[in-house]
Amino acid sequence: MKSCRMLSVTKNKKVKMMNTKEHGLRALEEQIRRELGYLNYPTDNWVKPLNDSVGREALDVAIIGGGMCGMAAAFGLTKEGIRNFRIFDAGDEGFEGPWATTARMRTLRSPKRLPGPHMGLPSLTFQSWYRTQVDDETWDELEHIPRETWMNYLRWYRQILEIPVENNNALKKIIPDGELLRLQFLGSDGDFEVLTRRLVMATGRSAFGGVRVPGIFKDIPKKFYAHTEEMIDFPALRGKDVLVIGGAASAVDNAAVALENGANKVSLLMRSESIPRLNKFKNIAYAGFLRGYYSLDDETRWRFLHHGQEARVAAPRRSMLRLKEYSNFHIHTDSGVKDVKFNDQKITIETDKEEFTGDFVILGTGYAIDIKRQAELADHAGKVLLWQDCYTPPADVANEELGRFPYLGPAFEFLEKENGIAPFLNRIHLFNAATTLSHAAVSSDIPGVNIGAERLVNALAVRFFNEGADQHLQDFYDYSDPELLGDEWREEV
Ligand SMILES: Cc1cc2nc3c(=O)[nH]c(=O)nc-3n(C[C@H](O)[C@H](O)[C@H](O)COP(=O)(O)OP(=O)(O)OC[C@H]3O[C@@H](n4cnc5c(N)ncnc54)[C@H](O)[C@@H]3O)c2cc1C
Repeated sequence: MKSCRMLSVTKNKKVKMMNTKEHGLRALEEQIRRELGYLNYPTDNWVKPLNDSVGREALDVAIIGGGMCGMAAAFGLTKEGIRNFRIFDAGDEGFEGPWATTARMRTLRSPKRLPGPHMGLPSLTFQSWYRTQVDDETWDELEHIPRETWMNYLRWYRQILEIPVENNNALKKIIPDGELLRLQFLGSDGDFEVLTRRLVMATGRSAFGGVRVPGIFKDIPKKFYAHTEEMIDFPALRGKDVLVIGGAASAVDNAAVALENGANKVSLLMRSESIPRLNKFKNIAYAGFLRGYYSLDDETRWRFLHHGQEARVAAPRRSMLRLKEYSNFHIHTDSGVKDVKFNDQKITIETDKEEFTGDFVILGTGYAIDIKRQAELADHAGKVLLWQDCYTPPADVANEELGRFPYLGPAFEFLEKENGIAPFLNRIHLFNAATTLSHAAVSSDIPGVNIGAERLVNALAVRFFNEGADQHLQDFYDYSDPELLGDEWREEV
């Protein structure tokens, strides 16, 4: 039993830690405000408003998505003096992206030293935020970043930079309107429209066709299966036999959560002949690759992504270890799914090797790449240039899915399938995971986010300047602020 003295020592230690935490954070926030001041942040807006032919007011940029990528873009725009923008997110405040919703790993895959969306400001890194709240020992002991901690960092990032995310507003439709784009939203108070010159879609991993659900599931009642990207009632799986399809991180973490919630048996079915052990993508997260990839020729870019995908990405070691203690967990390799049947409240999956029967299926089958299935883009799907429209890979690296990736321009903008059929497309800048084949993972994963946001913001600055070039030239002609007042020299000079 603890003595009163011990209890009060523990209490004092806790109070001290809380004080350190609050004090450290307050000091860091003051420092960041000071550093932003040194950068003259927020920078004055310099973008010339578009002279729309009927005189309507429009945003310069609408950003869709208030996750890591959308916020980095918003910070970058504000730093560069592109201030007439709004940022919308379909999700609830503080729950943007997967971290506090559908992600089920305990910690991030990335190492703790990864800086996060700092955009050049060391005080904004994850390490800076975390370390100011703990002592050196606690930082040293932290092995990997718990996902809730990462979400808290992103929440703080939004608050300290005052990023004005407007939550609970989902973009539904994009309508070209003269030189503008008319965006239709469904918000918590109903529908509304926003006019913008340019649209940045920082919409996350599943936003270029949703999730991959094998067609054979079309007749299976929905309450008997879910994709890892959905909310799943795990406590309801207690005592049930669960089949998980897929061998990557999400499949493994979902299997673990099912077991931790008391599932009777969990069987993981994967296509690979053996359990994948490598994550090839770890090898291409350095600045040279992330900056230089876009300038490679099409075949080399294709070969990089093709090779990474073919090698299959191993689940993180920590996720696999989570499963090890469960004797009611089984991995079945070489078990590609062939067919599925629903009978007597049970699901039977026929694989290359054998049949498996269970009460519930979790699909860890990843994300689709199919613009036709992306609601807000579907109207324009036939006009957007895809890789398959302009590049034929050598036979040894043929891949239908890669062919469906968008072939993007240098500002992440959509290009037209045929010149002149939809010029408005170059005002839509895709800044999500579907940019990977064109630009590398600079608008999806943490290591590339600063390079991606910087590239996007630079390109937007160039375009806005060019669009307003006549007015900027006129301003230059008209400029008449005297540097010297005439009293700086003696009369006889
Ligand atoms: C389970 C999981 C684990 C991951 N772990 C790691 C990791 O360890 N390391 C790493 O580097 N990367 C990781 N990633 C990859 C990547 O870092 C994350 O996907 C990250 O969330 C990407 O940030 P984002 O801003 O691009 O997208 P998101 O964080 O997904 O944000 C996109 C936002 O767009 C909003 N949105 C989408 N469509 C609309 C619409 N039509 N209207 C309005 N709003 C919309 C969504 O509500 C969402 O909030 C992981 C991804 C997942 C899914």
